[in-house]
Amino acid sequence: MGCALAYQLAKRNVDVVLLERATLGSQSTGKCAGGVRQQFSMEANVRLQRMSVRMFENFEFETGHPADFRQIGYLFVLTLPQHIEDFRHNVEMWQRVGLTEARWVDPDEAARMVPALNVEDVLGCTFCPSDGIASPADVTAGYVSSARRHGARLKEGVEVTGIDLAGGRVQGVRTSAGDIATRLLFNCAGAWASSIGRMAGLEIPVLPYRRQVAVTGTFPTVPRTNPMTVDFQTSFYFHPEGDGVLMGMSDRSEPPGYVTEVNWDFLEKMFVQAERRAPPLAGAGIKTAWAGLYETTRDHQAILGPVPELEGFWCAAGFSGHGFMQAPAAALLLTQLLLDQRSEVDISPFAFTRFAKGSLVHEKNVI
Ligand SMILES: Cc1cc2nc3c(=O)[nH]c(=O)nc-3n(C[C@H](O)[C@H](O)[C@H](O)COP(=O)(O)OP(=O)(O)OC[C@H]3O[C@@H](n4cnc5c(N)ncnc54)[C@H](O)[C@@H]3O)c2cc1C
Repeated sequence: MGCALAYQLAKRNVDVVLLERATLGSQSTGKCAGGVRQQFSMEANVRLQRMSVRMFENFEFETGHPADFRQIGYLFVLTLPQHIEDFRHNVEMWQRVGLTEARWVDPDEAARMVPALNVEDVLGCTFCPSDGIASPADVTAGYVSSARRHGARLKEGVEVTGIDLAGGRVQGVRTSAGDIATRLLFNCAGAWASSIGRMAGLEIPVLPYRRQVAVTGTFPTVPRTNPMTVDFQTSFYFHPEGDGVLMGMSDRSEPPGYVTEVNWDFLEKMFVQAERRAPPLAGAGIKTAWAGLYETTRDHQAILGPVPELEGFWCAAGFSGHGFMQAPAAALLLTQLLLDQRSEVDISPFAFTRFAKGSLVHEKNVI
């Protein structure tokens, strides 16, 4: 998020310093599964994502760097009557907002699309062919080099340790490498966004949740064209990764925390689910696994824009597990809001003020 924003701001001649205490793209972004989709339950997310998908499509033209965006589609596999009902509303809304390529797929067609899929208990699926997967490392690298080309200063190994305030506004940041005077800061600290908020006396409601993925060796039963497949009831998903398969599932019972060791006991549970939904995966050897953090808000929506209590404090955080795919559009729209006082897609549903108002609309299509 920070790299995308540094690029968009620098392109509009804003003097940008990006501070990263570790290395760029090493935290949630570097651990992410690379999924890019538009099939959300909240209209604002669909509109945002339609824009992001166009930006992923044009990424190489825009930055000179490939995004490795492969539009293999996302297949949502539905096994509960309630989810069929919810997705009926989703499909109507998707058509209304112009996501006309998203459609229902019956179990037989789903089995043809995804040869490994067990469709015995499947009631229906939705498929959007313009969804897909991209490379987080490539996208980060593209934004980093483009931001620097436009004059942004991106500093690694520099930690933000404090925020100077006076007169009800931001005056500067303190860092492990000295103080920097600024009247504007963006909190792009991912799973650590709340700690940046505390430095300014603000409660930014973002909690860290461990999420894990495992990758197999070569596995031709899931070909390179296999859609990203999501078993919506359990959150188990898989997509082709190189010549193998990447699988993930959310441990919905795990409390928030910053632990990022792999929990093999939970992965065993994931493999049981993998075998149930896609039986051939039982024979796929695991090559590697890792864990990273989701940065989750109460309504599973990002926090985008100014925090009115403190002038000069803006948020681009709380993406709740869909920040890689949302960062391109979010960065452009935040830049427009800052410099033009309006954005071409309305991002007011993501305003920080919704928490105080209690007007939370939950994004339901969360994996
Ligand atoms: C296993 C897994 C799978 C995922 N799959 C997907 C997916 O398929 N699609 C998708 O869109 N999203 C996915 N996500 C979510 C996605 O990774 C995040 O939403 C996204 O990367 C958030 O980007 P970010 O830039 O906000 O956070 P990060 O990439 O974590 O960047 C925040 C940075 O802030 C730095 N920082 C924190 N505190 C400080 C400080 N005090 N000073 C300086 N620097 C600081 C951190 O070091 C970090 O590098 C997945 C996440 C995980 C863990």
